[in-house]
Amino acid sequence: MTPLDHEPEIVRLAKSLGIADSAPVGGILDYCRSRIDAWVADVGGVSDIEVLESLVTNQLQMVFEEIRSDDDWDRLTEVYARGKKEFVFAAMRTKFEDTNNMTYGALVQRKHARQDALDRFVAVIDCRGNKLARRFFTRWHEIAHRLTTNADLLEPVYRAEHDPIERLMDEIAGHVGFYDPIFNPSLIAASEGKQHLSFSTVESVRSSAFPNASFQATLFACTRRTASPVIYLEAALAHKKEVKRQLVTPSLFGEPPPPGELRAVKVIPNEAARQARLTIPQNMRVPLGSLIFRMFDAELLTDGDGTENLNQWESRGRNLADCAVVVEARKVPDRVIAIVQPVKFMESS
Ligand SMILES: [Zn+2]
Repeated sequence: MTPLDHEPEIVRLAKSLGIADSAPVGGILDYCRSRIDAWVADVGGVSDIEVLESLVTNQLQMVFEEIRSDDDWDRLTEVYARGKKEFVFAAMRTKFEDTNNMTYGALVQRKHARQDALDRFVAVIDCRGNKLARRFFTRWHEIAHRLTTNADLLEPVYRAEHDPIERLMDEIAGHVGFYDPIFNPSLIAASEGKQHLSFSTVESVRSSAFPNASFQATLFACTRRTASPVIYLEAALAHKKEVKRQLVTPSLFGEPPPPGELRAVKVIPNEAARQARLTIPQNMRVPLGSLIFRMFDAELLTDGDGTENLNQWESRGRNLADCAVVVEARKVPDRVIAIVQPVKFMESS
């Protein structure tokens, strides 16, 4: 069970799909996978992820429209609003440019398309600026919406990033976009002979099987499928909880808020790490002695790796348990992404 399993919207979605699972997230994932597996079986298998994507989108009667430059908005208005009388397309741009709610993609059900039209659903994908890095993942996120859409969509929905449905769609995208029958052999080939997951393994999975996916999305897919414990971690400047609360009450601060400290803003232990109870509490301060700290301070956007001990992580006078770990980290513009793995791991069976 995950926290998402208790979200009423997720429970409702599972019900609407006829899934009676007590853990709706797993049930919905299985439902999506089995639909795709059936289509793949029908055509006798797929050779790569591009072929899978077109097979799936064809079955779902959906096409993609990518926004590469501002001119593409005019093109969409011309083709869909003027040409096909689908007026929602004329008003989409403002939604995508709302800085308070990052929108990467939207799924539109065309009102005037025939029931059997292959472009009955149009997924608009924003590929401008730094949204381009998410292109592959956004396409699969929109496929996830369509895979789980039973009822008609009256208007495209623009949900906040942390909305439970959005998080579930990301979860589905992470599974079906890195489709097991394509992903697993490439991970096995890339990690041959290595004891720990490494960035070079991730890079070779990406280049051999998912050339359009981002490094980060591929890394995340790899940690999830690794059988030994791996903690995926992102470190960025952030405040501790009490300060965060104060910051939303502006009257308390006549002066600019204090700078944040480097903290583990996102921590995702994989299944084996959860089983081994190996984790780093979310929002914990990154210790000065950690490679992650040094990487954040680095001038260049580079990678680094090393061995250290989890017991240097401390909060309110309490340290994490003694555990030697291999850390590999990459500095990206406003944060460090890292994987943390025990040097030695005994499988408890
Ligand atoms: Zn979405």
